[in-house]
Amino acid sequence: MHLDQRGRIIAEYVWIDAAGETRSKSRTLEEGIYTPDNLPIWNFDGSSTKQAPINNTDVYLRPCAVFADPIRGSPNIIVLAECWNADGTLNKFNFRHECAKVMDTYAKHEPWFGLEQEYPLIGNDGRPFGWPTGGFPAPQGDYYCGVGYGKIVMRDIVDSHYKACFYAGVKISGTNAEAMLGQWEFQVGPCEGMEMGDHLWIARFLLTKIAEDHGVKVSWHPKPVEGDWNGQGLHTNFSTKGMRASGGMKLIEQAMERLGSYHSQCIEEYGDDNDKRLTGRHETGHIDMFSWGVADRSRSIRIPRETATRGCGYFEDRRPASNADPYRVTKILITAALGKT
Ligand code: ADP
Ligand code: MN
Ligand code: MN
Ligand code: MN
Ligand code: MN
Repeated sequence: MHLDQRGRIIAEYVWIDAAGETRSKSRTLEEGIYTPDNLPIWNFDGSSTKQAPINNTDVYLRPCAVFADPIRGSPNIIVLAECWNADGTLNKFNFRHECAKVMDTYAKHEPWFGLEQEYPLIGNDGRPFGWPTGGFPAPQGDYYCGVGYGKIVMRDIVDSHYKACFYAGVKISGTNAEAMLGQWEFQVGPCEGMEMGDHLWIARFLLTKIAEDHGVKVSWHPKPVEGDWNGQGLHTNFSTKGMRASGGMKLIEQAMERLGSYHSQCIEEYGDDNDKRLTGRHETGHIDMFSWGVADRSRSIRIPRETATRGCGYFEDRRPASNADPYRVTKILITAALGKT
């Protein structure tokens, strides 16, 4: 892995497939400084990823963001790419393009997002890694932010991923063990506008890749285990310049008002199978009803205690599921929260 590359680099092109998973493939480029503008447009066989029909398979990869590659090391790079059809139309699973347009229109608000990605590591038996074969671990209580053998699993993956994000330039801001044994969380942000979706997708890609080395899978499903076990969210923290400034609480309350009337449109964009998770139990608000409150984790939206006390800050939309596309989430949330620009 440390051999001299003799003036060439590996560019790993990453895209999002029909199932909302990352895919990638590699190509050789001459060593140089690369930006989305000077990187080659590439393509892949969309019929193999359910992104195109068999009689018209080529899907184009248009580079949109570049990161350092922590797996292979610099000067190798990761290239996040948007999917476009051969006739110049958007590929059905490209949610980035429309998100970018919307973020542009709200740029003057300086919108910040922070995402909390929850995930369990899954073993070969399809159950969370570390769960006893044929049985269950002790009920939840000891695992959240747990320290000690038996309370957490595979901390190596979590820390490798943390450092890989630093190296790549992904704005990871923290990690913690979650409520179910085998479940973890990482946070990315605050990121401004469009950057949020890009950074989260690369963070997901890196986690999936690092887990490869350890022989475990990452599940993005919002309710990986039925029963009395926490599901998984993609809590979305949000603020604008105005909300962060003195007196911003008024704007946050206005946003709550607006978000109430957009509840079903938001849920539409907040991930599949979210009804299995948003039951009103296990630290969630019910999927059929919008609610908000200060420091209350059984609501759709929580206003952090600190924000309420200071009279400005941000709010946390707890509805998005772990498998949601951050481009879809950030786009509908900003539209719903701010209304017409
Ligand atoms: P929780 O208490 O819900 O577990 P976390 O600490 O896991 O919260 O995550 C908080 C998230 O909020 C982080 O991703 C952080 O970047 C983000 N965040 C902090 N301040 C702001 C802000 N002003 N606007 C938007 N997001 C913010
Ligand atoms: Mn081939
Ligand atoms: Mn959190
Ligand atoms: Mn959490
Ligand atoms: Mn949270």
